[in-house]
Amino acid sequence: MSVLDRFLRYVTIDTRADESSSSCPSTPGQLVLQRLLAQELGAIGLTDVLIDEHGYLMATVPPTRGAEGLPVIGLVAHVDTSPEMDGANVKPIVHRAWDGSDIVLPDDPSAVLRATDDAALAAQIGHDIVTASGTTLLGADDKAGVAAIVEAAAQLISHPEIRHGAIRIAFTPDEEIGRGADRFDVTRFGAVCAYTLDGGGAGELEFESFSADVMRITFVGFNTHPGYARGTMVNAIKAAARFIDRLPADRLSPESTAGHDGYVHPYQIDASVDRTSVRVLLRDFVTAALREQQALVESLAHAVARETGTRLEIEVREQYRNMREVLDQHPVVVERAREAIRRVGLTPIEKPIRGGTDGSRLSFMGLPTPNLFAGEHNFHSRLEWTSRQDLERAVATVVELARLWGSGAA
Ligand SMILES: [Zn+2]
Repeated sequence: MSVLDRFLRYVTIDTRADESSSSCPSTPGQLVLQRLLAQELGAIGLTDVLIDEHGYLMATVPPTRGAEGLPVIGLVAHVDTSPEMDGANVKPIVHRAWDGSDIVLPDDPSAVLRATDDAALAAQIGHDIVTASGTTLLGADDKAGVAAIVEAAAQLISHPEIRHGAIRIAFTPDEEIGRGADRFDVTRFGAVCAYTLDGGGAGELEFESFSADVMRITFVGFNTHPGYARGTMVNAIKAAARFIDRLPADRLSPESTAGHDGYVHPYQIDASVDRTSVRVLLRDFVTAALREQQALVESLAHAVARETGTRLEIEVREQYRNMREVLDQHPVVVERAREAIRRVGLTPIEKPIRGGTDGSRLSFMGLPTPNLFAGEHNFHSRLEWTSRQDLERAVATVVELARLWGSGAA
């Protein structure tokens, strides 16, 4: 079976995550895929194949003979797909030896992939492009990663001449709703480091993410019948509006920043005259800068509360931290990923993630985890696509990574 065949099978299983569900996994389809994967991994020859009570699948590629004492490394991918887009009845289409012409998706002809709007796609003329049919996502995020890991495990087991230590595999639920690391048992996983396969085009390597906090700013006003409110009503909605209007617009906002610049982002309001809460995301690559962002938000809110006669309640919660803080202490983890990418003939493309990944959380849970490409493009979209060639290059990179860690060099 090829990595493409595996991928085409996994995407037909609906694993859309559901933020409103409190169970883990959040949706039953994720367990359906986990059971299929457990069966496949067992048939390939992996050991310790186990789905735990939270729906996390772990398994081991046994070390080659004489390599039992080498460091154990991990490979991680997530089985769920984004809640933002329909993930049921995915009908993958393989556009073999794509000639560069527009790809019109048959179930909704307004969904068109064009080489002229997508440089990554234009670079893949002649490749076998895989899309959905126009009404759903494809699910390459992250079934491309899952398929690459399964196929790499199969190749390692069928090529015992490639020396490697034990390799632990984890397929996690609910990454797309931010819960993928919540119940990840790092101790049971037992690896010195891991690689998520959840990245974009061939060669991409990510080891830097935002540091992230979320604030809730609540203005407490006073409500009374508006017909008799003169001199007594204090409208918390108006206070919140004034506060939002004062947040920076031409800097420190998602609309005005890119690259390594952070931002402050109001993204949700719960409003009534009596109480209005604004949720604000704080994001920066430098963790210490979050304190400055918080101070700015607090000073703006306090000024507005004074002017409007509202009372203020402020909560701050930590979300995740820049994994680079951990990975800088383990440079060999990233260096081997770079070297593996080079060995398959690609140039490493290193970009900061303007968000977080499960690897950000796992790194701080004691498992240094950068992110490797898996061939995901236009994720969370009807226009999501991957290619057979990207999938194969992801597999080859994982095999090289196993070989590098198995070389026993420090
Ligand atoms: Zn993903």
